[in-house]
Amino acid sequence: IVKLEGVINDVDRIKVMVAYRDDPSPSKLNLGIGVYRTEEGKPHLLNVVSKAEKLLLNDKSASKEYLPITGLSEFNQLSARLVLGHDSFAIKEKRVCTVQCLSGSGSLRIGAELLARFHHQHVVYLSQPTYGNHMNFFIAAGITVKYYRYYDETTKGLDFQGLLEDLGSAESGAIVLLQASSHNPTGVDPTVEQWEQIRQLIRQRGLVPFFDCAYQGFVTGNLEEDAQSIRMFVADGGECLIAQSYSKIMGLYGERVGALNVVCKAEDVACRVESQLKLIIRPMYSNPPIHGAAIVATILRDREMYDEWTAELKAMIVRIVNLRHQLYDALCERGTPGDWKHIVNQVGMFTFSGLNEDQVSFLTKHYHIYMSSDGRINMAGLSSKTVPYLANAIHEALAS
Ligand code: PMP
Repeated sequence: IVKLEGVINDVDRIKVMVAYRDDPSPSKLNLGIGVYRTEEGKPHLLNVVSKAEKLLLNDKSASKEYLPITGLSEFNQLSARLVLGHDSFAIKEKRVCTVQCLSGSGSLRIGAELLARFHHQHVVYLSQPTYGNHMNFFIAAGITVKYYRYYDETTKGLDFQGLLEDLGSAESGAIVLLQASSHNPTGVDPTVEQWEQIRQLIRQRGLVPFFDCAYQGFVTGNLEEDAQSIRMFVADGGECLIAQSYSKIMGLYGERVGALNVVCKAEDVACRVESQLKLIIRPMYSNPPIHGAAIVATILRDREMYDEWTAELKAMIVRIVNLRHQLYDALCERGTPGDWKHIVNQVGMFTFSGLNEDQVSFLTKHYHIYMSSDGRINMAGLSSKTVPYLANAIHEALAS
């Protein structure tokens, strides 16, 4: 794995996971993992998912036979509608090719392979920083990885000027990986106005937008709002790719369920893309697994279950937002040096705390608190009980 300056790759995160596992301390706290945990620190199985599984168990017509190479067709249709909207023109005009893949990772990997085979420009731009595995999907496909500025350490917000400059000077036709919402690891998303400028620039320069949509609904609990960035690009009639994941949004991590959507300019192009995707997938894993896709389709096709899911999703987000406020208040009460407003301003599952490598080491050594060395905190790994513990640790790390 290529180690780049300032980029936390997967190896670092895996090291943190192992160190946490091997720590015998009863007060240890894992804020490094990227999964949602309950207030009790337990893995979270959504009620609506259990309900869907019971229905599937009782469905006498269900079988375990192979799915087609492109997956469960109803799942694909519902997934495209979820991300592009019920009234999407691109869907109506049959310009969208959707294939079920092995979650977000599989969708990104298949998308990268498609671009490596059929797109002339073998360069991708990732945000600096980004999710540690992003570069690997593209390197594995033989695509050169470059970075565009994204995070401003001074404001702990978006380096919008840097982003525009870097994309403005990218090679024509380069691929640009964009996170649709709830940016991992920074928790910083562009505003709608900024997305519009990014869209214009990408279109003007003939760049290829590839959206990673792993957290639809994680900003406010509103699925429509979180897909707005993508829908702006689709509405202009141009091409884009979208990797969808149900790991976080339905808590289906280990089921490996997601989809790659390729939005094309014409129906015949979408048909040809589908046939090429089949040729890519067939020798890789033949066809995707059935169970996760059946769960998702059961929930998305039924109004009541859909509403139950979105209510559960909303409750998860409300808990995370509350924890943001609790941590912010706790640091203010302690008079911890620094401005902590970014904890409440950043969105989604992660807070990019601003703690440096030494401060993170201090937290681990003295408090058994684990997080990656870039200071990313998984807010969902916290609870009202552990917030004061973390605040004490941060306070001491900064005061010492
Ligand atoms: N993209 C982002 C931004 C992520 O944070 C993750 C998981 N942490 C993924 C993609 C891939 O996850 P999965 O393969 O489980 O969908």
